[in-house]
Amino acid sequence: MGSQGEKAPIHVFMVSFPGQGHVNPLIRLGKRLAAKGIFVTLSTAESHGFQMKKVNKNLSDKPTPYGSGMIRFKFIDDGWDYSKPEGNDLGLYIQHLESVGKQVLPQMIEEEEKQGRPVSCLINNAFIPWVSDIAETLGIPSAVLWVQSAASFSCYYHYMHQLATFPTESNPQLQLQLPGMPLLKHDEIPSFLHPASPYTMLKKAILGQFEKLSNPFRILMDTFHELELDLVDQLSKICPIKTVGPLFMYPKLISPNGNDIRGDYFTSDSGIIQWLDSKSASSVVYISFGSIVMLKQEQIDELAYGLLNSGVNFLWVVKEPSVGTGYLPVKLPDGFLDKAGDRAKIVQWCPQEQVLAHPSLSCFLTHCGWNSTMEAISIGTPIIAFPQWGDQVLDAKYLVDVFKVGIQLCRGEDENRIIPREEVEKCVREATSGAKAAEMKENALKWKTVAEDAVADGGSSQQNLQAFIDDIVTKCTAEKFKKASLQ
Ligand code: UDP
Repeated sequence: MGSQGEKAPIHVFMVSFPGQGHVNPLIRLGKRLAAKGIFVTLSTAESHGFQMKKVNKNLSDKPTPYGSGMIRFKFIDDGWDYSKPEGNDLGLYIQHLESVGKQVLPQMIEEEEKQGRPVSCLINNAFIPWVSDIAETLGIPSAVLWVQSAASFSCYYHYMHQLATFPTESNPQLQLQLPGMPLLKHDEIPSFLHPASPYTMLKKAILGQFEKLSNPFRILMDTFHELELDLVDQLSKICPIKTVGPLFMYPKLISPNGNDIRGDYFTSDSGIIQWLDSKSASSVVYISFGSIVMLKQEQIDELAYGLLNSGVNFLWVVKEPSVGTGYLPVKLPDGFLDKAGDRAKIVQWCPQEQVLAHPSLSCFLTHCGWNSTMEAISIGTPIIAFPQWGDQVLDAKYLVDVFKVGIQLCRGEDENRIIPREEVEKCVREATSGAKAAEMKENALKWKTVAEDAVADGGSSQQNLQAFIDDIVTKCTAEKFKKASLQ
């Protein structure tokens, strides 16, 4: 099958850096491509795929019809054992994945050719730039899905090409002014670019993609043009970027077994939506720090009492540390649950998109990962920003100062401070009632409409996505012609 009605399908092979925040947008893009008739293979490391398969029973290596195309999962056998002593060393893992991936991925691609469905296009998200190299070597067109903001992209781009002066060891407090962006204080710059950042391997991996920006014919971004207007216009002049987000917002199609195709690493707790249903409109604060960030025990205690003292209802995701992160488990203070009673629901994982869209929701206390940011803005949910590291600090800056849908509770790891319960309480009160809360809600609802328009027929993201699909079809057809004429 395939949109061209030819024997070999148009086959897009997509590779994700292993991590929930990377896998989610890649799957969402994969579903859009499949919906339009493309055969999509979704891949990441087997050590994570194994977890995804446990949670999502309909996730199969057999092609599953989706829209007029197909989706199947095929994982890269990375042979990584998280239980061994060095299992949590992310730097080591990134190196390991690259060396295994460089061997295994070309073999997987060759196997596809043998099976009569040669790969027409390779798509990877950032942090695994070696996929772009493989595409280049094998002569396969490639594209990148950038899963952060255009603002974050601009920071890395300017850093990589030394087009601006960033903080240095001798001047770590330097502010950064980039075209089309507000002046950034040193702690608002993506933290991997700080001179003292401990995340050297992540910095290396992400900058690796910026070294290879000439390989992909397209860099898709999970943001929407209207949200980062001037910046997107400006970056488009120097890189082949196109905004296609919010990817989570396109209509969901259901696979034949009646389920949506998802790649969650964890199973959602039961009874969440029923609990939300039992609460009055706009009365619940949702708290989640994404799939990786874990706060210190002391911060959990202060947050717990701040929430309790604020008098609001709250749904709080208190998860186990993810494998490979080295974070320690945390627990709620003794007696806390009794004091909170039915005002609180504590879960390990939840269906976040559904939660954000629930009428009982008032606001979202978030670590400001880009997926959570995109989901909240597009659903029209005001934010309490509690970033920690990476691009989260920059996202928080934009949510508060540029998009004007949030207030800031924490400035990130760099602040190196436990936010006391009094500050938590004050901030939660301000975000849930009074003039500031009303203003944030009004702005959030404006962004919701703009996001809906971007993915609707004729919208900026929808048009860019269609143009991308047309490009793949054209490139694939040209490639087939070339091969046929050489035979
Ligand atoms: N998420 C979810 N349930 C939860 C917590 C998070 O489905 O209980 C999803 C969330 O909707 C988002 C992703 O996990 O799509 C987290 O990505 P984000 O970029 O916000 O943060 P990261 O995990 O990468 O730090």
